Amino acid sequence: MVPLVYHPDYSFAFPRDHRFTMSKFKLTYENLVRYGLVHNNLFTPEKPEIEQFHLAHDPGYVKALCKNTLDEKAWRRIGLPFSEQLIHRTLIAPAGTLLASKLALEHGVACHIGGGTHHAHYSFGSGFCLLNDLAFSSLALNQMKPDLKILIFDLDVHQGDGTASILKNEKNIYTVSVHCEKNFPYRKETSTVDVGLYAGMSDDEYLTIVESTLNESISRFSPDIVLYDAGVDIWEHDKLGLLNISWQGIFERDKLVFEKFKQAGIPIASVIGGGYDPDEHELARRHSIVFEAANSVFNVL
Ligand SMILES: [Zn+2]
Repeated sequence: MVPLVYHPDYSFAFPRDHRFTMSKFKLTYENLVRYGLVHNNLFTPEKPEIEQFHLAHDPGYVKALCKNTLDEKAWRRIGLPFSEQLIHRTLIAPAGTLLASKLALEHGVACHIGGGTHHAHYSFGSGFCLLNDLAFSSLALNQMKPDLKILIFDLDVHQGDGTASILKNEKNIYTVSVHCEKNFPYRKETSTVDVGLYAGMSDDEYLTIVESTLNESISRFSPDIVLYDAGVDIWEHDKLGLLNISWQGIFERDKLVFEKFKQAGIPIASVIGGGYDPDEHELARRHSIVFEAANSVFNVL
């Protein structure tokens, strides 16, 4: 079984009519229990000291976030309503991605039932993202192991703009984003590799591009670990995505990613990324795909 990382505070009482489905973490976890994928493979992250986020974020921004002194404009850009529970879960989730990364280094693979807040920038939040777990985790890994070469492989339908921006001067961290060019963010940042897809692309062409980008990333960067953002907003009926990828196509994509890195002997930690659907159960089932794909390729615990 594949190591899982989860915290019960990831989901909390949240407006049901909001575009962001806060219940999806808990519902995905419950799905995995039902699927028989949770036994003694579950790991719980601890909330870090807020100073640890200074690795990836402006100390003034982190403080304003925690003290609730961000202005209305900053919250509008984030797109979520402030609450103590939101800040609490926001501080834990990046530690979850870091824990998954460490477990991946140990076991070859680990999956986080959370993470992928790739629109969070150095000094501001954006697009439902407050702190950038991918930037934070890769910088924390590099702090522990300066020579570790880290690949962030982001297949969410939206560009990983915050990640690209925070990490742009890092020599050992490579950011690869395959996204729909027409989707948010409208002003793109420059990742190490950006692949902008046209709106309406469907499975075959998409999977071909994902595979060639995987091959290129592995041969060009020879990473020691990959953090994989498995956003399901590439789905054909996603409320915020403009691609035309089937349910089966998402599974094929995730399986391909796990297989490639396994074959290359590169540890992989996945995060769930974006997905938007008014039906919370349908959404949680889609977010569960990446865990099914990981377990179809790996059996480590
Ligand atoms: Zn997204």
